[in-house]
Amino acid sequence: MRMGSSWRWQVSRAMRLALRWCRLCRPQKGGRGGGSKLWISGKMSELWIYSKLLLKSLYYNSLNNFDTLLDCAFEPVYWIVDNVTRWFGVVFVCLVILLTTSVVVIVYLFVLPTIFSTYPVHWIVWHLCCGHWLLIMVVFHYYKATTTSPGHPPKDKIHLPSVSICKKCITPKPPRTHHCSICNVCVLKMDHHCPWLNNCVGHFNHRYFFSFCLYMTLGCIYCSISSRLLFLEAYSAIESYSQTPPPEYTFRETTGHKSIIFLWVLTSSVAVALGGLTLWHSMLISRGETSVERHINRKETKRLSEKGKMFRNPHHHGKANNWKALFGVEKKSHWFTRVLLPSTHLPGGNGITWDLIFTRRDPMAI
Ligand SMILES: [Zn+2]
Ligand SMILES: [Zn+2]
Repeated sequence: MRMGSSWRWQVSRAMRLALRWCRLCRPQKGGRGGGSKLWISGKMSELWIYSKLLLKSLYYNSLNNFDTLLDCAFEPVYWIVDNVTRWFGVVFVCLVILLTTSVVVIVYLFVLPTIFSTYPVHWIVWHLCCGHWLLIMVVFHYYKATTTSPGHPPKDKIHLPSVSICKKCITPKPPRTHHCSICNVCVLKMDHHCPWLNNCVGHFNHRYFFSFCLYMTLGCIYCSISSRLLFLEAYSAIESYSQTPPPEYTFRETTGHKSIIFLWVLTSSVAVALGGLTLWHSMLISRGETSVERHINRKETKRLSEKGKMFRNPHHHGKANNWKALFGVEKKSHWFTRVLLPSTHLPGGNGITWDLIFTRRDPMAI
């Protein structure tokens, strides 16, 4: 089977068989006269048998089954989907940067001047602090989530604690590791491949990903609420454009109206969509699961319940402990320095060996 996997050997074998097939096709010189029907049918059946042998000797594999054939048939489709997703990843990252920049520019040009001219000083200070804190958190976590490697199993170490072998990488897979077909590599504690980050979410960037979702949602809610009155004003102004005689607005004012409407619609829609995703991931983190494990654990729960047994997730250390493990909180002050401020600390553990609830002595300690 290993020899068959070498393409050079396959080509030379195919050529040998093809030559033999050609020799059989060549008309024999002398002796047979020409056109004996018996001879032709004999030759044809010989060629048919030889063609079948040729096909079987090239493609026969005792491990083949219908699933393998189906996988092979769909291989080009998978290849196209993976490559398109990889390519779209770059487009999506550019889109996130472009839309975030446009929102920031609109806030600086149209929202902040209104706040400065109409709000009392304490509200101006609050808006400046809150807005800039959210902006820094969003930019920092997005940059870190896209540029931090999620972590891969080491290739130089042979004796890894593994649960299976990756069929694509032909390397041992440690617990919670899964293969990403888009990145074409095994990822430690793989959650999912995120096209908006053009990166996999795994052990080393899970916190950055979640914090980005959280702060982006908060930032969108903040923008949506702050620009709500301006949006209502801009909306009624745009409605009045069609009146006769049309109201006299300057170019800056009409641009402002359109920009505010774009800002409010965009931030409100992103707040709803991303808010839903953030809540979903919060639920997964509280349960001590990744997105991939959610499906595996569901299946396992069903399988065991049919046998009258109960499934227990070995990575669920209690809600509070799961959150502390994600944010790397080891003492109270870390909630401020590691969660509410940008921090580059590494997550606990190496992503290869895991502290399971069955082997843990003190389940409440982190
Ligand atoms: Zn792999
Ligand atoms: Zn990936």
